[in-house]
Amino acid sequence: MSPLTATDAGRPDQRVCEAPGCGLCGEFRAPRARDRLTDYRWFCLEHIREYNKKWDYFAGLDADQIEAHIRADTIWRRPVRIASLRASTSRSPTSRAAPRRR
Ligand SMILES: [Zn+2]
Repeated sequence: MSPLTATDAGRPDQRVCEAPGCGLCGEFRAPRARDRLTDYRWFCLEHIREYNKKWDYFAGLDADQIEAHIRADTIWRRPVRIASLRASTSRSPTSRAAPRRR
């Protein structure tokens, strides 16, 4: 009786979407830059669409500038998470400042 080896799960060539904060499968490829058409990035369906939309906008920029835009995108999304984290902390019942009750 031979033990089953991982076949479908955990394939080494399994790609993950490159969009920041997205953990979906990267099923769709996109060229990294105009002069690097054999160097691909991988995205899920939602983000490949987003990437393609941005392609024209980014056409005049180099790879570093594109990266900067993508990073800025990530930073903008962060405060939302921090705010919601704070909201749940302030609801702690052991808080010294007793919350107002009706
Ligand atoms: Zn994605």
